[in-house]
Amino acid sequence: MMLLQWLLIILALTSVLISIHLIWTVYRLRSHPCIEPVEIALPELSDELNQMLNNIAHAADISITPSLFIRRAALPNAFVVATFFRPELYLTDELLEHCNEIEHGLEKLTHILCHECAHIKRNDSIRLGLLTYALQWTAALHVNTLQHHIQSKISHIELQTDIAAEKIFKTLTFTANSQTGVWQDAAFKCSIIETINQ
Ligand SMILES: [Zn+2]
Repeated sequence: MMLLQWLLIILALTSVLISIHLIWTVYRLRSHPCIEPVEIALPELSDELNQMLNNIAHAADISITPSLFIRRAALPNAFVVATFFRPELYLTDELLEHCNEIEHGLEKLTHILCHECAHIKRNDSIRLGLLTYALQWTAALHVNTLQHHIQSKISHIELQTDIAAEKIFKTLTFTANSQTGVWQDAAFKCSIIETINQ
């Protein structure tokens, strides 16, 4: 068989694997008992969080603002899942609580949302997902050289995402000064405190 035909077969198989991975991930998340859309999990904060995300997505030049979900979990965490239609952004309630307790928490939360939007803009979701799977397998099989290689690849992607996120954040600061950004809005901070302390 010609080399080109082999390449096409490998490409087709990879596409099928990525599609199955995507569908399976979204299915698992959607049926997870601790995950709810922000409108249901935190209705008091829904508008503010969505508005904040909308502004950041606009600053990141993302055409479709991600859907926002809250996951009830013991660890502060944020992640993005690519879907065929609209990206999904997940925050844990523990992360919101953590941002509420620390100094400059709202700014920290904004940085985190910028980071996740940068992942969307860079189309990192699928390759990061596959690299993470590969990392788990190489760790389980003790293939150390490959494991370190994958780990450094993930670190490199995260570093590049941080650089992109910083640029988004600076754009956001600029728009905030022209009164269109919400992250400087004191009402947002107050509503987080009220909701979480209930
Ligand atoms: Zn990241």
